[in-house]
Amino acid sequence: MELYNHLINETCELLKGDATVWDYSGLKKWKDLGASELVLQKDAAYELGAQGKGSANYVLFTSNAELVSEDKVMLYGPDLGEIKGDCDFARIVLLRLGVLDDDDETVYRTLKDIEFAKYHVYPEGYMVRMSPESSREQVRVSKTALRQGISFKSIGANYIEEYKKDHNVLAATVIFVTAPGYDYKQMQALAKKSTAVTGTLTHILEGLPTDCSICALKDVCDEVEGMKELHFGVGDKGSGSKH
Ligand code: SF4
Repeated sequence: MELYNHLINETCELLKGDATVWDYSGLKKWKDLGASELVLQKDAAYELGAQGKGSANYVLFTSNAELVSEDKVMLYGPDLGEIKGDCDFARIVLLRLGVLDDDDETVYRTLKDIEFAKYHVYPEGYMVRMSPESSREQVRVSKTALRQGISFKSIGANYIEEYKKDHNVLAATVIFVTAPGYDYKQMQALAKKSTAVTGTLTHILEGLPTDCSICALKDVCDEVEGMKELHFGVGDKGSGSKH
Protein backbone atom coordinates (compact mmCIF):
# COMPACT_ATOMS: atom_id res chain seq x y z
CA MET A 1 0.00 0.00 0.00
CA GLU A 2 2.54 2.53 -1.17
CA LEU A 3 0.32 4.30 -3.72
CA TYR A 4 -0.29 7.25 -1.41
CA ASN A 5 3.27 7.68 -0.13
CA HIS A 6 4.09 10.60 -2.41
CA LEU A 7 0.97 12.38 -1.12
CA ILE A 8 2.09 11.80 2.48
CA ASN A 9 5.50 13.26 1.64
CA GLU A 10 3.90 16.28 -0.06
CA THR A 11 1.64 16.78 2.97
CA CYS A 12 4.67 16.75 5.29
CA GLU A 13 6.34 19.34 3.05
CA LEU A 14 3.29 21.60 3.36
CA LEU A 15 3.19 21.25 7.13
CA LYS A 16 6.62 22.50 7.96
CA GLY A 17 6.62 24.39 11.25
CA ASP A 18 6.12 23.71 14.93
CA ALA A 19 3.41 21.30 15.93
CA THR A 20 1.98 20.30 19.28
CA VAL A 21 2.12 16.50 19.47
CA TRP A 22 0.14 14.25 21.81
CA ASP A 23 0.80 10.55 22.16
CA TYR A 24 -2.51 8.68 21.85
CA SER A 25 -1.83 6.32 24.73
CA GLY A 26 -2.16 9.13 27.26
CA LEU A 27 -5.29 10.71 25.81
CA LYS A 28 -8.85 10.70 27.02
CA LYS A 29 -11.48 10.97 24.31
CA TRP A 30 -14.21 13.60 24.29
CA LYS A 31 -17.76 12.49 25.01
CA ASP A 32 -19.24 10.97 21.83
CA LEU A 33 -22.99 11.28 21.35
CA GLY A 34 -23.27 8.38 18.89
CA ALA A 35 -25.39 10.48 16.53
CA SER A 36 -25.13 13.88 14.92
CA GLU A 37 -25.99 16.88 17.05
CA LEU A 38 -27.24 20.24 15.88
CA VAL A 39 -25.18 23.08 17.30
CA LEU A 40 -27.26 26.19 16.62
CA GLN A 41 -25.50 29.34 15.50
CA LYS A 42 -26.55 31.15 18.70
CA ASP A 43 -24.84 28.44 20.78
CA ALA A 44 -21.67 28.37 18.68
CA ALA A 45 -18.45 30.13 19.63
CA TYR A 46 -17.01 29.96 16.10
CA GLU A 47 -16.63 27.79 13.02
CA LEU A 48 -13.49 26.03 11.90
CA GLY A 49 -13.04 26.08 8.12
CA ALA A 50 -16.03 28.41 7.73
CA GLN A 51 -17.06 29.77 4.33
CA GLY A 52 -14.40 32.16 3.11
CA LYS A 53 -11.72 30.42 5.22
CA GLY A 54 -9.25 27.74 4.17
CA SER A 55 -10.50 24.20 4.69
CA ALA A 56 -9.38 20.70 3.74
CA ASN A 57 -9.94 17.11 4.78
CA TYR A 58 -8.40 13.87 3.55
CA VAL A 59 -7.08 10.44 4.52
CA LEU A 60 -3.90 8.83 3.21
CA PHE A 61 -2.79 5.22 3.58
CA THR A 62 0.58 3.55 3.74
CA SER A 63 2.25 0.42 5.03
CA ASN A 64 5.50 2.28 5.70
CA ALA A 65 6.25 2.47 9.44
CA GLU A 66 8.62 5.38 8.91
CA LEU A 67 5.84 7.51 7.44
CA VAL A 68 3.31 6.65 10.14
CA SER A 69 5.21 5.45 13.16
CA GLU A 70 2.70 5.62 16.00
CA ASP A 71 -0.73 6.68 17.15
CA LYS A 72 -0.65 10.39 17.78
CA VAL A 73 -2.48 13.68 17.41
CA MET A 74 -0.72 16.70 15.92
CA LEU A 75 -1.81 20.32 15.90
CA TYR A 76 -0.41 23.15 13.79
CA GLY A 77 -1.85 26.36 15.20
CA PRO A 78 -3.97 27.34 18.20
CA ASP A 79 -6.02 24.76 20.11
CA LEU A 80 -9.81 25.00 20.41
CA GLY A 81 -9.67 26.93 23.70
CA GLU A 82 -7.34 29.54 22.19
CA ILE A 83 -9.26 30.25 18.99
CA LYS A 84 -11.22 33.50 19.13
CA GLY A 85 -13.32 33.41 15.94
CA ASP A 86 -13.88 31.67 12.60
CA CYS A 87 -10.58 30.36 11.25
CA ASP A 88 -8.89 28.15 8.66
CA PHE A 89 -9.05 24.43 9.32
CA ALA A 90 -7.71 21.14 7.98
CA ARG A 91 -7.99 17.63 9.31
CA ILE A 92 -5.61 15.19 7.68
CA VAL A 93 -5.38 11.54 8.68
CA LEU A 94 -2.43 9.27 7.95
CA LEU A 95 -3.07 5.57 8.47
CA ARG A 96 -0.59 2.72 8.47
CA LEU A 97 -2.20 -0.50 7.33
CA GLY A 98 -1.09 -4.09 7.65
CA VAL A 99 -0.48 -6.23 4.58
CA LEU A 100 -3.61 -6.10 2.46
CA ASP A 101 -2.50 -7.67 -0.78
CA ASP A 102 -4.11 -11.08 -0.56
CA ASP A 103 -7.41 -10.11 -2.21
CA ASP A 104 -7.63 -6.92 -4.27
CA GLU A 105 -11.34 -6.42 -3.89
CA THR A 106 -11.01 -6.73 -0.14
CA VAL A 107 -8.27 -4.11 -0.22
CA TYR A 108 -10.50 -1.58 -1.91
CA ARG A 109 -13.47 -2.33 0.31
CA THR A 110 -11.28 -2.06 3.37
CA LEU A 111 -10.01 1.35 2.30
CA LYS A 112 -13.55 2.62 1.79
CA ASP A 113 -14.71 1.17 5.13
CA ILE A 114 -11.81 2.84 6.89
CA GLU A 115 -12.54 6.16 5.18
CA PHE A 116 -16.14 5.93 6.32
CA ALA A 117 -15.00 5.80 9.94
CA LYS A 118 -14.98 9.61 9.86
CA TYR A 119 -18.78 9.55 9.64
CA HIS A 120 -19.00 7.70 12.94
CA VAL A 121 -17.41 10.34 15.14
CA TYR A 122 -19.85 12.64 16.96
CA PRO A 123 -18.09 14.60 19.70
CA GLU A 124 -20.45 16.60 21.88
CA GLY A 125 -20.48 20.29 21.00
CA TYR A 126 -18.39 19.71 17.87
CA MET A 127 -20.68 19.59 14.83
CA VAL A 128 -18.88 18.45 11.69
CA ARG A 129 -20.10 19.11 8.17
CA MET A 130 -18.15 17.58 5.30
CA SER A 131 -18.25 18.37 1.66
CA PRO A 132 -16.67 15.45 -0.21
CA GLU A 133 -16.95 17.28 -3.57
CA SER A 134 -14.82 20.18 -2.41
CA SER A 135 -12.75 18.22 0.19
CA ARG A 136 -13.73 20.78 2.82
CA GLU A 137 -14.62 20.15 6.45
CA GLN A 138 -16.43 22.71 8.56
CA VAL A 139 -16.91 22.40 12.32
CA ARG A 140 -19.19 24.43 14.57
CA VAL A 141 -17.87 24.44 18.13
CA SER A 142 -20.29 25.15 20.97
CA LYS A 143 -19.65 27.63 23.76
CA THR A 144 -20.59 24.93 26.30
CA ALA A 145 -17.95 22.52 24.96
CA LEU A 146 -15.35 25.27 25.24
CA ARG A 147 -16.36 25.95 28.84
CA GLN A 148 -15.95 22.22 29.50
CA GLY A 149 -12.40 22.29 28.10
CA ILE A 150 -12.74 20.69 24.65
CA SER A 151 -9.35 20.29 22.95
CA PHE A 152 -8.00 18.79 19.74
CA LYS A 153 -6.14 16.21 21.79
CA SER A 154 -9.42 14.64 22.89
CA ILE A 155 -11.15 15.07 19.52
CA GLY A 156 -8.13 13.42 17.88
CA ALA A 157 -8.47 10.54 20.33
CA ASN A 158 -12.10 10.06 19.25
CA TYR A 159 -10.98 9.75 15.62
CA ILE A 160 -8.09 7.40 16.38
CA GLU A 161 -10.31 5.11 18.43
CA GLU A 162 -12.78 4.93 15.54
CA TYR A 163 -10.12 4.27 12.88
CA LYS A 164 -8.50 1.60 15.01
CA LYS A 165 -11.71 -0.38 15.29
CA ASP A 166 -10.59 -1.80 11.93
CA HIS A 167 -7.90 -4.36 12.70
CA ASN A 168 -6.07 -3.46 9.45
CA VAL A 169 -5.15 -0.06 10.92
CA LEU A 170 -1.87 -0.51 12.76
CA ALA A 171 -1.16 3.16 13.47
CA ALA A 172 -3.04 6.42 13.03
CA THR A 173 -1.84 10.01 12.99
CA VAL A 174 -4.55 12.66 13.10
CA ILE A 175 -3.34 16.11 12.10
CA PHE A 176 -5.30 19.31 12.76
CA VAL A 177 -4.27 22.60 11.18
CA THR A 178 -5.77 25.88 12.39
CA ALA A 179 -3.01 28.41 11.79
CA PRO A 180 -3.34 30.97 9.03
CA GLY A 181 -0.65 30.97 6.39
CA TYR A 182 -0.73 27.29 5.46
CA ASP A 183 -1.52 26.37 1.88
CA TYR A 184 -5.07 25.05 2.31
CA LYS A 185 -5.69 25.20 -1.45
CA GLN A 186 -2.79 22.83 -2.00
CA MET A 187 -4.12 20.55 0.77
CA GLN A 188 -7.41 20.43 -1.16
CA ALA A 189 -5.46 19.53 -4.30
CA LEU A 190 -3.82 16.66 -2.40
CA ALA A 191 -7.23 15.57 -1.15
CA LYS A 192 -8.46 15.40 -4.73
CA LYS A 193 -5.40 13.40 -5.77
CA SER A 194 -6.03 10.97 -2.93
CA THR A 195 -9.61 10.52 -4.15
CA ALA A 196 -8.28 10.01 -7.69
CA VAL A 197 -5.90 7.29 -6.51
CA THR A 198 -8.69 5.47 -4.66
CA GLY A 199 -11.01 5.90 -7.66
CA THR A 200 -8.40 4.53 -10.07
CA LEU A 201 -7.86 1.62 -7.75
CA THR A 202 -11.58 0.80 -8.05
CA HIS A 203 -11.45 0.87 -11.82
CA ILE A 204 -8.41 -1.36 -11.84
CA LEU A 205 -10.04 -3.82 -9.51
CA GLU A 206 -13.21 -3.76 -11.63
CA GLY A 207 -11.15 -5.16 -14.49
CA LEU A 208 -10.74 -2.10 -16.74
CA PRO A 209 -8.78 -3.02 -19.91
CA THR A 210 -5.03 -2.54 -19.50
CA ASP A 211 -4.42 -0.16 -22.40
CA CYS A 212 -2.84 3.04 -21.06
CA SER A 213 -2.83 4.70 -24.50
CA ILE A 214 -6.63 5.09 -24.47
CA CYS A 215 -7.24 5.16 -20.72
CA ALA A 216 -8.83 8.23 -19.11
CA LEU A 217 -6.94 7.54 -15.89
CA LYS A 218 -3.50 7.82 -17.45
CA ASP A 219 -2.70 11.11 -15.71
CA VAL A 220 -3.17 9.51 -12.31
CA CYS A 221 -1.16 6.42 -13.21
CA ASP A 222 1.67 8.47 -14.74
CA GLU A 223 2.00 10.32 -11.47
CA VAL A 224 1.47 7.56 -8.93
CA GLU A 225 4.28 5.10 -8.60
CA GLY A 226 3.07 1.49 -8.46
CA MET A 227 -0.35 2.04 -10.06
CA LYS A 228 0.55 0.59 -13.46
CA GLU A 229 2.33 -2.36 -11.86
CA LEU A 230 -0.78 -2.98 -9.83
CA HIS A 231 -3.02 -2.87 -12.90
CA PHE A 232 -0.83 -5.06 -15.02
CA GLY A 233 -0.57 -7.51 -12.17
CA VAL A 234 -4.37 -7.57 -11.85
CA GLY A 235 -5.12 -7.32 -15.61
CA ASP A 236 -2.71 -10.05 -16.58
CA LYS A 237 -5.05 -12.49 -14.88
CA GLY A 238 -7.65 -11.96 -17.62
CA SER A 239 -6.33 -9.86 -20.48
CA GLY A 240 -3.22 -8.74 -22.27
CA SER A 241 -1.56 -5.39 -21.48
CA LYS A 242 -0.47 -2.52 -23.70
CA HIS A 243 1.53 0.47 -22.42
S1 SF4 B 1 -2.39 1.37 -15.61
FE1 SF4 B 1 -2.86 2.19 -17.63
S2 SF4 B 1 -4.73 1.14 -18.23
FE2 SF4 B 1 -4.48 0.84 -16.03
S3 SF4 B 1 -5.72 2.45 -15.08
FE3 SF4 B 1 -3.62 3.20 -15.28
S4 SF4 B 1 -3.52 4.30 -17.24
FE4 SF4 B 1 -5.38 3.04 -17.23
